Amino acid sequence: SAPLGLHLRAVALNATHVAVEAADVTESHRLARVRRDFVANVSHELKTPIGALQLLAEALLDATELPEPAPDAQSEDLLAARRFAERIHHESARMGRLVNELLELTRLQGAEPLPTPEPVALDWVIAEVIDRTRTTASAKGIDVEYTGPKGATVYGSDSQIATAVTNLVENAIAYSGEDTKVSLAVRPGDDWIEIDVADEGIGIAPHDLDRIFERFYRADQARSRATGGTGLGLAIVKHIATNHGGRVDVSSTLGGGSTFTLRLPARPPESPLPLPAATEI
Ligand code: ADP
Repeated sequence: SAPLGLHLRAVALNATHVAVEAADVTESHRLARVRRDFVANVSHELKTPIGALQLLAEALLDATELPEPAPDAQSEDLLAARRFAERIHHESARMGRLVNELLELTRLQGAEPLPTPEPVALDWVIAEVIDRTRTTASAKGIDVEYTGPKGATVYGSDSQIATAVTNLVENAIAYSGEDTKVSLAVRPGDDWIEIDVADEGIGIAPHDLDRIFERFYRADQARSRATGGTGLGLAIVKHIATNHGGRVDVSSTLGGGSTFTLRLPARPPESPLPLPAATEI
């Protein structure tokens, strides 16, 4: 067998290796935190000027109301100015959404694992989501239908779960045609409760399916841009799912609609192990 000296050297080398790996992990955690803080700070700083832009655009929109009753020679200039003001308003609203979603994402990334999970009544979540999305849905003549049992409970953060389901329903509406249906279904199981959000919309091509949960990834640029999306909604949903120990999946056919399934824990997390009884010596 190898002399003791060699053994010791091997052990020492292994130890160095482990130490280097540990240092790498610490360093990459530190870098991740620096990156997260940077994004959070920039986003936060951008909120104020973007808010100001939106207010200014609104003031411009008011100031460029066409005169009643008869349009005069100046109307054309006014109309052009109004169109620019509308674009500024539209784009600044989009920047506002982007910044809010970036902030949300950095908050979620910093919050792993979830602080003490609480029981969350899915009835409340569904009612909240339907309420939040009512205006956008009805503008497109889309019905958001719910099927599922009353009184289902999952464990986690009510606001995060409501955000995740809202994002899925908003997408279902955004990527669907007029007068279609969006179905929300809750399917309880022993360990997990699944929430399905199904639409009859444009669907997703197979090569995009794996990537849509990445930050800023958007399947079809042209189509996506028209919705004013940011490419962050599904990354947020994925983070919320994993923070809860659950997951989010999708099945879809291009042109044939999509179904997103959010799986959340149906049981409270393991209660902490009882302290070992004091031993008498
Ligand atoms: P976005 O702000 O672009 O909607 P998301 O992260 O929410 O960003 O979604 C990423 C991309 O996934 C979208 O741009 C779109 O291409 C695709 N997508 C998401 N949900 C749906 C859906 N229900 N039907 C079709 N495509 C979808």
